[in-house]
Amino acid sequence: MLAGLLATGLMNVHAQTAKIDTPEVTGPEPKVVVPGRAFIDPPSDAIILFDGKSLDEWVSGDDRTQPAGWTVHDGILTVNKNVNDIQTKRLFTNYQLHIEWRIPADIEGEGQERGNSGVFLAAFANEQGYELQVLDPYKNPTYVNGMAASIYRQFIPLVNPGRKPGEWQSYDIVWHAPLFNDDGSLKSPAIATVFFNGVLVQDHVALEGPTWYEGHPKYVKHGACPIALQKHFDKSKPISYRNIWIREL
Ligand code: MG
Repeated sequence: MLAGLLATGLMNVHAQTAKIDTPEVTGPEPKVVVPGRAFIDPPSDAIILFDGKSLDEWVSGDDRTQPAGWTVHDGILTVNKNVNDIQTKRLFTNYQLHIEWRIPADIEGEGQERGNSGVFLAAFANEQGYELQVLDPYKNPTYVNGMAASIYRQFIPLVNPGRKPGEWQSYDIVWHAPLFNDDGSLKSPAIATVFFNGVLVQDHVALEGPTWYEGHPKYVKHGACPIALQKHFDKSKPISYRNIWIREL
């Protein structure tokens, strides 16, 4: 029933290929595209999640009673590798999200160990949800379903419009949360559309479940969720975020 529903949804909504058991996909690499500017100021009806000044809209990723422990400086937000993820105070269901991020110019490491972070589009527990990958996208080979702008281990971006380390990048995301029946079964999957530096990279993809690094994705019933930003355990220098705003749908 679930598999059939998902298969039907995938055939109807999109040609991008999801891999059922989410192995690492080694290629071919999406075509590199040079992007234009895509740094969008918040419209009047947006909720500002980060304005360069405070973390008032955020709390700790593993304890919602504790403050978000990342660093605000010079109008930007930088990952603190000594603490965990951060998550929004507010809960969301369907939304349009804009977020900008930057890999440090002097980043080191390679593959998944080079500027790894992520946007959990709905985080129903710490590190559990649906991750839009953040990673150095510039001449940084890794498995293509784990590269920047992938829906981690599920959907490869259509192209690679990523910029060099040290340059700001943007994601614009339209997220429709999954719906569940009263008995916990899936009614309709999560749907994500993503623009990376203004270029379409995820075209209305139907997620197979939460993103994880092994096993078959499996939906677990949840309601409205916070959005979380990932502190990855890699040893590379922490990345930064700015200009984060959201419009509820
Ligand atoms: Mg990540």
